[in-house]
Amino acid sequence: MKTTKYIFVTGGVTSSLGKGIISASLAKLLQARGYSVTIQKFDPYINVDPGTLNPYEHGECFVTEDGAETDLDLGHYERFLNVPTSQANNVTTGRIYQSVINKERKGDYLGKTVQIIPHITDEIKRRMKLLGKTGDFDVVITEIGGTIGDIESLPYIETVRQIKWELGSDALVIHLTLVPFLAASGELKTKPTQHSVKMMLENGVQPDVLVLRTEHPLNNDIKKKVALFCNVSVSSVIESIDVPTIYEVPLKMREEKLDVTVLEKLNLPLKNEPALKPWTDFLDTLKQPENEVNIALVGKYVELHDAYKSIAESLLHAGVSNKSKVNIKWIHSEPLTDDNIAQELVGMSGILVAPGFGHRGIDGKLLAVKYARENNIPFLGICLGMQCAVIEYARNVLHLKDAHSSEMSRRTPYPVIDLMEEQKEIFDMGGTMRLGSYPCGIIKGSNAFDAYQSETTNERHRHRYEFNNKFLKDFENAGMKGTGINPDTDLVEIVEIPKHKWFVGVQFHPEYKSTVLNPHPIFVGFIKAALGK
Ligand code: GLN
Repeated sequence: MKTTKYIFVTGGVTSSLGKGIISASLAKLLQARGYSVTIQKFDPYINVDPGTLNPYEHGECFVTEDGAETDLDLGHYERFLNVPTSQANNVTTGRIYQSVINKERKGDYLGKTVQIIPHITDEIKRRMKLLGKTGDFDVVITEIGGTIGDIESLPYIETVRQIKWELGSDALVIHLTLVPFLAASGELKTKPTQHSVKMMLENGVQPDVLVLRTEHPLNNDIKKKVALFCNVSVSSVIESIDVPTIYEVPLKMREEKLDVTVLEKLNLPLKNEPALKPWTDFLDTLKQPENEVNIALVGKYVELHDAYKSIAESLLHAGVSNKSKVNIKWIHSEPLTDDNIAQELVGMSGILVAPGFGHRGIDGKLLAVKYARENNIPFLGICLGMQCAVIEYARNVLHLKDAHSSEMSRRTPYPVIDLMEEQKEIFDMGGTMRLGSYPCGIIKGSNAFDAYQSETTNERHRHRYEFNNKFLKDFENAGMKGTGINPDTDLVEIVEIPKHKWFVGVQFHPEYKSTVLNPHPIFVGFIKAALGK
């Protein structure tokens, strides 16, 4: 069995420096050299998972094949590495405490006082090594959420200290900081980095590599200064300069030799030069598109683009696959009315109605669907977006007055979207939706079949409500077809209007499976239709 090497990525100075992207970029480079790598994220908050969080808190909730509701960084990991993650790849403080407390209740600690050290840190350690123990990975990269100095992160940093002590050169710490530019004096400042490393040292952890986020290039003197103050060699001070797209970061990290430095420190051979041709081909097309296309993204969290991270990235991937740049117009559904809808959607070549929960903004979403349907504009509805397409069709084509989803209206006379049978006895909110991958059969001749070129697929889900099959016949007679059906349960997974140019609603979330190297067929088909191809 292989000896797994562990890399920890911590952050200092401020949040939002892009630890997730640096982790994913390093993983990409190691993978491109022939190593098998996975990335996991440890989040210091007390929610057991981010499934119950409002998207305004931490952005989108990403869903894995095995149905874990996770941090959006796992989406980056998958999009960069093209390898699925799982429940084990995202752990929160809440989950750690939950297991320790469950063990305590069972009496597993045999009368001992249960403490942060060693019991919480042991549980963190066990989970940090879980994927390494499978034998599937040469390298496990662990991103620690939060910023050094946060009270919440302390047990994680302490565990990293212990693991480094135990594993020696089989473990390594990369610390990401910010080098701010003071415009008034025209200087780049290293003091915040020095302080941040001092704080790591106070906790007993000497970072092995420093990645410095900066808006301006760092000269060698700055690197030398940081090296001197922070006990690292100059070659271990890596510049991470702002770039126009996150997909360029692996190439920047390669220029800075982050992969070489890391492999040398871990005593691993460099193997081949990173094989990045497909990646650079993707970037070339991204930078020099032949066409442009305007897509409206209609949702209720659009002020925070991170709430729709995977959708935005999937549109970009699908754009590149169609050699086109996708311009997203972010449209808030709440203020949409009959009077302003045309003005908001004019010039859009495609309309996407986003997933979501609850009543807020629903009327605007229904108006957007209607506009797309009546004006023959390519339409993609995802999860709640698909449910809106069904409700709109029920009301305006089948003339079922006040048809609705029973999520929004318990008393609707026509619950065309209704609570799934298996959901009826569930009262806990966390981790109880229909989650993860389920099969879907696709009907030949549909837009979906055209996109997938296959009669079956598997897609990831996150919902409680479903198309109400009691109404399926009526919909089909009126021109909306179920073109994707779960073979085991008969749940409608895809609806389409065959008479329309391209009108597809999907109950699942295709955005969770789109990667740089495998753009999702549904998004590719949508953009193709929007381009009028
Ligand atoms: N609120 C809807 C449901 O639970 C849709 C969920 C979603 O869009 N992810 O079924």
